Amino acid sequence: MTSKILHSFLDENITELKDRGLYNEIDPVEGANGPIINIDNKKLINLSSNNYLGLVTDDRLKKVAKEAVDSYGVGAGAVRTINGTLDLHIELEEKLADFKGTEAVISYQSGFNCNMAAISAVMDKNDAILSDALNHASIIDGCRLSKAKIIPFEHSDMDDLRQKAKEAVDSGNYNKIMVITDGVFSMDGDIAKLPEIVEIAEEFDLISYVDDAHGSGVLGKGAGTVKHFGLQDKVDFQMGTLSKAIGVIGGYVAGKANLIDWLKVRSRPFLFSTAVSPADAAASTKAIELLLESTELNERLWENANYLKSGLEKLGFDIGKSETPITPCIIGDEKETQAFSKRLYEEGVYAKSIVFPTVPKGTGRVRNMPTAAHTKEMLDTTISVYKKVGKEMGII
Ligand SMILES: *Cc1c(COP(=O)(O)O)cnc(C)c1O
Repeated sequence: MTSKILHSFLDENITELKDRGLYNEIDPVEGANGPIINIDNKKLINLSSNNYLGLVTDDRLKKVAKEAVDSYGVGAGAVRTINGTLDLHIELEEKLADFKGTEAVISYQSGFNCNMAAISAVMDKNDAILSDALNHASIIDGCRLSKAKIIPFEHSDMDDLRQKAKEAVDSGNYNKIMVITDGVFSMDGDIAKLPEIVEIAEEFDLISYVDDAHGSGVLGKGAGTVKHFGLQDKVDFQMGTLSKAIGVIGGYVAGKANLIDWLKVRSRPFLFSTAVSPADAAASTKAIELLLESTELNERLWENANYLKSGLEKLGFDIGKSETPITPCIIGDEKETQAFSKRLYEEGVYAKSIVFPTVPKGTGRVRNMPTAAHTKEMLDTTISVYKKVGKEMGII
């Protein structure tokens, strides 16, 4: 017999979510997650992936992935610290260190588990972490796992950060204090104020940690938010993912050699979870090589993003204050936002609605993620669909 308590817990909670319109139906994509996707036999312009540079379907990455399968098989066979470290993983880490301009890099199986791994490897219950209020879920979970005292500061509010850093230091309660932030905030597309964060970190001797999941491949000509501000020598942890702009899967921390050494002996997903597959490692390395060789994809991404943004803005949509390709189209009311996204879908544009509680009440938005792989024609079609649906619903 299975648990009755569990079943009633699940039934009650799932029903409640559905009643409140918060139950997320998942649409399986039939085929590749490229600029055009198929869902339910319907062709759609895809503005919901994180495939910023179009590398998910890049032939050069596919080729090295296939070759890796032929030479190495499909799995790494063990955790990194037993014998799952293939030469492919080392190549990837060396290439990433080059890319980030740091002494060393450690790679993980995902960006999420990288945050779970790295924060708790250095922070413990005698420490404190100053965390931006809008930080990603994986940062929040990583901080919780460390058992350090979590001190949230108002989103990108440097006065609040400085005051809370001062209070934490003055209290004398903590051995180490960290400040942690997203490099780029994924809901609004705004960039963390890293120069000021670094200044505050220096003033109060804080450990600095930047999660650059949405900045790598996008800002700093591809090298990320830290490079964008020229702060490579001033940030302790540069965390990134290989699953967004890089198009594959995995996460990493770039930093000083002694930090990476420590993470190799202390971070639990590195010690207790099998390494990414040979194909993943080879494809990620190839992607980094391409970004080191040329900024072409990065330039195309920005060109497309600016084109889409100005098109939507000219139509009269509120596209928020994004400083990156992330293009929110703020509708406001939750139900209207969902209806808007549904009409876009019917007209052939896949752009997901994001509403409370992911974003504050009354700021529901459809979030557009233009990529280097979109053509002008796709973006023109998108803009004309937005115009049609926007007028029809009285939004513009
Ligand atoms: C997506 C994301 C992650 C998780 O990365 P994955 O590689 O997808 O696990 C971590 N942090 C931020 C800020 C993200 O946006």
